[in-house]
Amino acid sequence: MTESLTDRYGTMVFSDRVMKEYLPSDIYKKLSDTIKKGKPLDLDVANAVAHAMKEWAMSKGATHFAHWFQPLTGITSEKHDSFIEPLHDGSAIAKFSGKELIQGEPDASSFPNGGLRATFEARGYSAWDPTSSAFIKDEVLCIPTAFCSYTGEALDKKTPLLRSMATLDVQAKRVLALFGKHPETITVNVGNEQEYFLIPEEMYEKRQDLIMTGRTLFGAPPCKGQELDEHYFGAIRPTVNAFMKELDDVLWGFAVAAKTKHNEVAPAQHELAPVYCNANRAIDENLLTMEEMRLLASHHGLVCLQHEKPFEGINGSGKHNNWSFGTEDENLLDPGDTPEENLQFLVVLTCIIEAVDNYQDLLRMSVASCGNDHRLGADEAPPAIVSIFLGDELSDIVEGLAEGHGVGHKLRESLDFGVAVLPTFDRDTTDRNRTSPFAFTGNKFEFRMPGSAVNPSDANMVLDTAVAKSLKDFADAMENRGDVAFEDAAIEYLRKSLAEHKRILFSGNGYSEEWHEEAARRGLSNYPTTADALPCFVAEKNIALFEEMEVLSEVEVRSRYEVKLDKYCKLMNIEAATMERQARRTYLPVISAYATKIAKGITTVTTAMPEAPMSHERRELKILTEGVSDIYEGIDALTAIHQKAKSCENSQDMANVYAHEVAPAMTSLRAAVDAMEPIVAREYWPVPTYNDILFYC
Ligand code: ADP
Ligand code: MG
Repeated sequence: MTESLTDRYGTMVFSDRVMKEYLPSDIYKKLSDTIKKGKPLDLDVANAVAHAMKEWAMSKGATHFAHWFQPLTGITSEKHDSFIEPLHDGSAIAKFSGKELIQGEPDASSFPNGGLRATFEARGYSAWDPTSSAFIKDEVLCIPTAFCSYTGEALDKKTPLLRSMATLDVQAKRVLALFGKHPETITVNVGNEQEYFLIPEEMYEKRQDLIMTGRTLFGAPPCKGQELDEHYFGAIRPTVNAFMKELDDVLWGFAVAAKTKHNEVAPAQHELAPVYCNANRAIDENLLTMEEMRLLASHHGLVCLQHEKPFEGINGSGKHNNWSFGTEDENLLDPGDTPEENLQFLVVLTCIIEAVDNYQDLLRMSVASCGNDHRLGADEAPPAIVSIFLGDELSDIVEGLAEGHGVGHKLRESLDFGVAVLPTFDRDTTDRNRTSPFAFTGNKFEFRMPGSAVNPSDANMVLDTAVAKSLKDFADAMENRGDVAFEDAAIEYLRKSLAEHKRILFSGNGYSEEWHEEAARRGLSNYPTTADALPCFVAEKNIALFEEMEVLSEVEVRSRYEVKLDKYCKLMNIEAATMERQARRTYLPVISAYATKIAKGITTVTTAMPEAPMSHERRELKILTEGVSDIYEGIDALTAIHQKAKSCENSQDMANVYAHEVAPAMTSLRAAVDAMEPIVAREYWPVPTYNDILFYC
């Protein structure tokens, strides 16, 4: 690296700085208005911007452009077109028009749409999202775009996210207006911590299960797991370090402010966190980061596993979603330290509590995936039950308000006197509770349920929409409060709302069995699997929410539900099929062969020496032959139930069979094979074990 860190930063991005340099000032101003205020862009401006983008991109060696978008399944998609425009005389020029910049028409018939586009009407179009910067990746100018059908329905993850941010913008401004504030924009800020595993490529290549499904379908626990906690924040080994350095360097080029990197709790597990930014951009950055991680790992003989639970029995990977929103001047989740700010903060906090309680099912749904089913509730990750952790001081204040007898210990009587004496609090007192799915961490909430492999748009879209709805209800109530003073009306509203919704607050250990019981007593929802959680998407109250807040139409909700079901069933089908085949063709033959070897040994020895003590060998042989029999039975059971799943006509029925019948059959078959692993001789075992995979880089 010859350039300094700061020189390198953002060099591959068509950033504000580059725009200023490459665009005439009137065009720059118009584009800025589009970006900052959402004003529509006319074609002249688009042409000028496209020209500038092309000039800039070609100066960096780019030859192609691509609309870079986020289809409903998968992470990102792109189709490359070169800038080349042939001329009659056999030469060519480079061309990129405003129309090509603004709108693309990927032949998108193969992208999932949940029935929104009949295949004969395959056309969808991608539309430039000027609020996230274009960038150059591998000589391609990538233009972040939204992806819609010709009838206007969203076919991607970005469009609803942008709509949810817009609705939050409107409602938060209404609330702030009550405090006499009139900011220009409300920005949602997101920082995604990305967890991942790195394993040697040569081990990966020998594991069909990892190749086909991203996780190990078989594998006995390693002799040493994570019990020593020595990996967490441990010194980063050279191969991994080289990977991380290259990754940082590439990400900085994309103006992704990769900030923190460290080893995680599980062996071979790591984490990267960038500095937070606008949610739309942050999610683009996260997707780009994931893509680069997968790509760059191969430069170092490594494979990056982004599955939520690649290895049974050790920690899985999440994508903690740090979330807040604010104006140009203030973070609305910052408690601040003057009383006036505190009422405003308490309003925002209450609206968030109300939103999370009212739409706990939707939040759970938003993180449901085949992979995350193995992680949520598995001892190291939050359970499938949504709850909020506030920390002691905030809990006291909220509790006091809800009970209607003032706040906490310090200021018990003072609340009755109104806003001027609301307490001040110190953000550092919000201690940390790693077991909570939704924790207040000083000036943001950290949503810990999203899995490492997912596009975080869904979770953020639900969060923004639900919070916008409770802000809206508050603003409606205040605007119609009649003669009551604002502060009195607001405090009364908070009291009522908190009394109703405080059941969602929980400070204890979210991993414990008691919490499951307590949560059930409180009436909190608990959807253990994806199949259980997905129907929440189409619950009447949730469709009503999306429609009221203009984030998704009923048709869009239903199509998304179908796409999610379909993806879940397909992944489960792949896992079950891989498992059946591996059990039968990879494991059974070697276990049988080893049993035969033992049997032959017994015969040979007893022939030569009838009085030889062979009881241990016979016991070993018995375990092996019983194991083989268990595996045969496991395969038969799985095959039968898998067949039942495949023959379901209705996709929800199919998902239910996969979740509640196929998954347990897979667990049993796995247990039967895993029980043989520590017994069968090492040279017989056909694949690298957890011992082999987890400790070598
Ligand atoms: P942790 O201790 O949980 O790792 P950090 O303070 O390192 O927390 O932050 C984790 C992520 O949260 C980072 O991406 C950081 O930029 C982001 N973050 C910090 N403040 C905010 C905020 N106000 N809004 C959204 N994200 C934030
Ligand atoms: Mg964190």
